Amino acid sequence: MNDNNLFRKEVLTLKRYVPGKPIEEVKKELGLEDIVKLASNENPLGPSKKAVEAIKLEAEKINIYPDPGVGTLREKLAQKYDLSPEQIVVGNGGEEIIKLIAQTFINAGDEAIMASPSFGLYATSVSHMGGIPIQIPLKNYKHDFESFIEKINEKTKLIFVCNPNNPTGNIMTEEEMDYLFNNIPDNVVVVLDEAYYEYAIKNPRYPDSLKILKERPNTIILRTFSKVAGLAGVRTGYCLTSEEIVNEMTKVKGVFNANRLAQIAAIAALDDEEHIEKTVELNYQSMKVMEKYFEDNNLEYIKSNSNFVFVDVNMDSRVVFQKLLEQGVIIRPGYLWNWDNWLRVSTGTIKQTEKFIEKLDLILNSTDS
Ligand SMILES: *Cc1c(COP(=O)(O)O)cnc(C)c1O
Repeated sequence: MNDNNLFRKEVLTLKRYVPGKPIEEVKKELGLEDIVKLASNENPLGPSKKAVEAIKLEAEKINIYPDPGVGTLREKLAQKYDLSPEQIVVGNGGEEIIKLIAQTFINAGDEAIMASPSFGLYATSVSHMGGIPIQIPLKNYKHDFESFIEKINEKTKLIFVCNPNNPTGNIMTEEEMDYLFNNIPDNVVVVLDEAYYEYAIKNPRYPDSLKILKERPNTIILRTFSKVAGLAGVRTGYCLTSEEIVNEMTKVKGVFNANRLAQIAAIAALDDEEHIEKTVELNYQSMKVMEKYFEDNNLEYIKSNSNFVFVDVNMDSRVVFQKLLEQGVIIRPGYLWNWDNWLRVSTGTIKQTEKFIEKLDLILNSTDS
């Protein structure tokens, strides 16, 4: 046995992430052929074909290190958002950006305020650096900004706003964000996690975070190519913020953190607006199918502006998860966030979504449960 002093002390108290089951594993374990994975909010239409073509060509060059400055992609993003490339950091997924933020700002004892449940990596990354995550329970299923404001003190470095929130799927509106910004000091850095941005902007009350950034430099907007763009498997995410923050974050990041295939795929995906539009349209069609079933069966759910929905099935999510798995459907069970009777379900193609509903219906109405 190693003595515990071997490890960084914060690491010893971290918990391992419980990942969603990979399709390949479920196929092998259960001998099933046809698996529908609605557990990780991926794009059911697949990746942009343009991105796939770009990767095929780029594959011949993988003996050469990628551009450490991620020049072409940052230039393209800067044009899209009317910012300077010096305001952009590209990461190995949004995940890496969240870790970089904690590593850039958090000293031992510093505090970061966030909702609970929300994206688990905020708390893990802050704890890793010896910081203290202040986790505020949702109120009426939303970030409780009143309590966020009460918790601010001289140790507060960061505020995470997951918008839309994962796992609940709902948004904080422009008015709610204004209330937060009008009641916090300028030196607290606010991270706006907009991993589901393209879905969320269909709601006219979704805040304009770029406008917020222009007025308030201590703001970090996080976006990713993993969700709507369908590039979860190559890992690219980025943040938009002030040049000063980019400068510090860049010192912390791995030099070649954005690999060649990720960079080229993201560049191609930015040009494939049709793919994004189709994906968002399918999402809301598929969402409607689920909402109708939930309403017809009096299941409480949270109105979503992302590509997943959180629903109360009045039954232990461990049991429902396992039974759905046996029927070839993978979802994310709510017990992982201590919401025992809830499920988080990603939208699929209409056919996949209907399969989920059919199997869920069987489980909820079977007599032996
Ligand atoms: C998926 C997700 C991310 C980032 O995912 P990456 O694949 O690492 O880019 C960040 N925040 C939230 C809330 C997410 O759901």
